[in-house]
Amino acid sequence: MPQDTSPMQPDKNALRALPSVQRLLEDAEALIAATSHSATTSALRQVLVDIRTAHAPGVMLPTVENIIARAAARLYADNQSILRRVINATGIILHTNLGRTPLAETAIAAMAEAARGYTNLEFDLATGKRGVRLQNIEALLCELTGAEAALVVNNNAAAVLLTLSGLAAGGEVIVSRGELVEIGGGFRVPDVIVQGGARLVEVGTTNKTRLADYRTAITEHTRALIKIHQSNFRVIGFTESTSLQELSRLAHDKNLLLIEDLGSGTILNLEPFGRPHEPTVQESIAAGVDIVTLSGDKLLGGPQAGIIVGRADAIAQLRRHPLLRAVRIDKISLAALEATLRLLRDPATAIRDIPVLRMLAQPRTVLQARAETLARALADIADIRIEPSRGYAGGGALPTDAIASVAVCLSIPSQGTEALAAKLRAHRPAIVGRIAGGRLHLDMLTITDADASEITQALHALIA
Ligand SMILES: *Cc1c(COP(=O)(O)O)cnc(C)c1O
Repeated sequence: MPQDTSPMQPDKNALRALPSVQRLLEDAEALIAATSHSATTSALRQVLVDIRTAHAPGVMLPTVENIIARAAARLYADNQSILRRVINATGIILHTNLGRTPLAETAIAAMAEAARGYTNLEFDLATGKRGVRLQNIEALLCELTGAEAALVVNNNAAAVLLTLSGLAAGGEVIVSRGELVEIGGGFRVPDVIVQGGARLVEVGTTNKTRLADYRTAITEHTRALIKIHQSNFRVIGFTESTSLQELSRLAHDKNLLLIEDLGSGTILNLEPFGRPHEPTVQESIAAGVDIVTLSGDKLLGGPQAGIIVGRADAIAQLRRHPLLRAVRIDKISLAALEATLRLLRDPATAIRDIPVLRMLAQPRTVLQARAETLARALADIADIRIEPSRGYAGGGALPTDAIASVAVCLSIPSQGTEALAAKLRAHRPAIVGRIAGGRLHLDMLTITDADASEITQALHALIA
């Protein structure tokens, strides 16, 4: 038989000498003990496949130890989860790319409990029969917002989709041209509304939409007026928009629904904590909005969720819609949401225990002290300046409200700033800051004191 020596082909004869998986397993006791028999077997098989496909003629075959080491490297690389912790030193609190909201400790505990065992998710413990999913949480939402009824789904986009599908499909919905928002990642709220089967009728101009604009657009096909929170932009200068009270009067005169996508919506009034006025869910309900939708993981400070509150008859209609099943929330998020809502019953507790609200309300003196401690701990390895900085709520909330913050701005003589930033991103936990003026800026607004000491350790380890 002629020997195949083409350089593009694996060396088939030589490959016959490769040890079998069985043979390799005999020497892989330590790896089996550290992982499992099946994981080790599978990793060894994959390494053998790699060797067979890549082996070139004339090259020595790897030894048994070498093959086991390659399997081990593969297993440990697999065990390093792709999703990992990040220390957010960007100064943007609701950073959507970094997962928006850290959760309150009680919410984390509730998630762990819900995950570990079974729950009364759809079971009435009093009667021992099937119960209504979400009932208690919905009562809590009604208590907090003053709404008649509530419904919780997977996220706010789903809340908008379900609302439009259930209440306006086949009809027209009137919206102001000043509220056609793209919220990030190419995601446009008007597209979701259209997906719900409603025809969007745009009225007014970018900067001015009056009550008369809505009124003249109403036809026999109109089902609802919709108000969309401007989220991540503001129009300044000569502007005019229509108040919720006026819109609600018009809608109800004409037997239409008034729907509001509040986006980041908050239940807690943030003004006492030094932030500008952000409309609360309660204000919308009190103004006569029939359906309000909002995110669970923006200013509310909870898990990813979509919250729908409003009129009982409208919510009952949504509850019967087949789409509800496709957008339902899972038990773990639900547990976290309930715990977060419980904290929101008392403003002082909410500000103390919900991380997003705690960050928003943090006094500058706390940030300054954190910066000074971090600067002192890094003084021996880095050139440091403490500078005033501007943080932001992010997540489409309070876009024009710069939060007075403090940044530790560092450079390390032996390291380029870009390279340093890359090394910190590769660290576990990853540390993400921002580069400006040739220095790495670490914003104190979005880190904790514990994060600051992890940053210190990481930088010392990098320099060593
Ligand atoms: C953020 C936002 C959404 C989407 O909310 P998700 O919870 O991310 O689905 C929809 N509408 C507005 C106005 C928003 O700001």
